[in-house]
Amino acid sequence: MASICRSLRPLAKNIRPLSTLSPATRALPRRSLLSSQKACLSTSRPRSAEPYMPDDVDTSALTPTPITHFSETEIMLAESIQKWSEEVVAPKVREMDESEQMDPAIVEQMFEQGLMAFEIPEEYGGSGMNFTSAIVGIEELARVDPSVSVLCDVHNTLVVTAILKYGSEALKKEWLPKLATNTVGSFCLSEPASGSDAFALKTKAVRTENGYKINGSKMWITNSMEADFFIVFANLNPEAGYKGITAFILTKDMKGFAVAKKEKKLGIRASSTCVITFDDVEIPKANLLGKEGQGYKYAIGLLNEGRIGIAAQMTGLALGAWENAAKYVWNDRKQFGQYIGEFQGMQHQLAQAYTEICAARALVFNAARKKEAGEDFVTDAAMAKLYASQVAGRVSSLAVEWMGGMGFVREGIAEKFFRDSKIGAIYEGTSNIQLTTIAKALQKKYTS
Ligand SMILES: Cc1cc2nc3c(=O)[nH]c(=O)nc-3n(C[C@H](O)[C@H](O)[C@H](O)COP(=O)(O)OP(=O)(O)OC[C@H]3O[C@@H](n4cnc5c(N)ncnc54)[C@H](O)[C@@H]3O)c2cc1C
Repeated sequence: MASICRSLRPLAKNIRPLSTLSPATRALPRRSLLSSQKACLSTSRPRSAEPYMPDDVDTSALTPTPITHFSETEIMLAESIQKWSEEVVAPKVREMDESEQMDPAIVEQMFEQGLMAFEIPEEYGGSGMNFTSAIVGIEELARVDPSVSVLCDVHNTLVVTAILKYGSEALKKEWLPKLATNTVGSFCLSEPASGSDAFALKTKAVRTENGYKINGSKMWITNSMEADFFIVFANLNPEAGYKGITAFILTKDMKGFAVAKKEKKLGIRASSTCVITFDDVEIPKANLLGKEGQGYKYAIGLLNEGRIGIAAQMTGLALGAWENAAKYVWNDRKQFGQYIGEFQGMQHQLAQAYTEICAARALVFNAARKKEAGEDFVTDAAMAKLYASQVAGRVSSLAVEWMGGMGFVREGIAEKFFRDSKIGAIYEGTSNIQLTTIAKALQKKYTS
């Protein structure tokens, strides 16, 4: 517990009181959500630094609590990140989107604030927090900028988790302190010919005297401009099909490694997405992640968890879009002599949209808590990502309409949330792939 507070102390210290924020920021009705969470805070809920559900706990003996109950640490974290995002990220969002560049100062500060090390244990220089804390952080960042959120998401839920779960002690000692303090990570699975069918990947690895040699290419790799650490999936034994897939650690300075092309995108434009090529990249034996031929299992496991992060990115985005528009219709814009948010036709839409956001959040945090409790969460994660991305698309689209012409121009942020929302239905498994996962589980359950 003390460790979490220590890692959060810099966040708390650097936050200006609400009264010193800009009038526009102050006007956002953001406290209400967090206050309502606080109001139903359960004192019996374990704190974030502790495992949510130790292995020896008989869960049937526990009194169920609402999914929206958060620990004090999680609430404090949400509030701190919310304020940090408004103060540090919000002023740069438009410029980063226009220039399609992540501001390095933001990444630097994310490391300083512990936002790149949620689950890294303190002994490796991390924040030593739980999975739900990472989800809370990803959601809060997306409320202000989904690009910053996905940088944090990929680094924490895919890359760091991969090292924590599958890395040797030597890899952990070498890399976790760097991933916690100054080294951004990337997760490289997709290729030009393998997207949804990820295990059809063509990148090959061969054994050498000192380790392995890798040839091939990856496409759509998030964080590749900022990253120095890459988890790369390559096939070491193509005859064995997907059972030859193996995970390796590569760094940008390796001979033959190149970031070949940066994509120009519809949304999350400040997040870098690149093609990466490997031309006879030699890597030492020590850079094998886990065991040979287990890469497909690692990728599936990591993406199942990662999907909860993307779902949180989408609920954060939806909330940010909704709040931005709500402020406008209830405080700024009058037509026919009254605020446009006073019209019942508008109010019903706002209420419907907010209800959908809360339903999506319930799915997201239920999936996160189930993962933490060691329960099967795969279907829950798929449902959370599917539904949260649908809600983000619907709400951010409506938010543009609620703001009329002001929603459509690049002066504000409504159109950006709308553009950013589309990616939720594509990466870490498209919506069709989530539906297939859900349907498979249902079919299994209901087939006699
Ligand atoms: C901005 C961005 C960032 C990304 N970041 C990363 C990253 O960091 N690392 C990484 O490895 N990858 C990353 N990806 C890749 C991403 O995971 C893939 O784009 C995604 O899995 C879909 O693959 P695809 O684009 O090849 O589409 P395809 O697989 O070609 O799919 C196209 C359409 O066909 C449908 N379809 C395909 N198969 C089926 C099926 N069996 N049943 C029904 N419908 C189907 C899909 O649902 C989709 O609608 C990123 C992608 C983008 C756009």
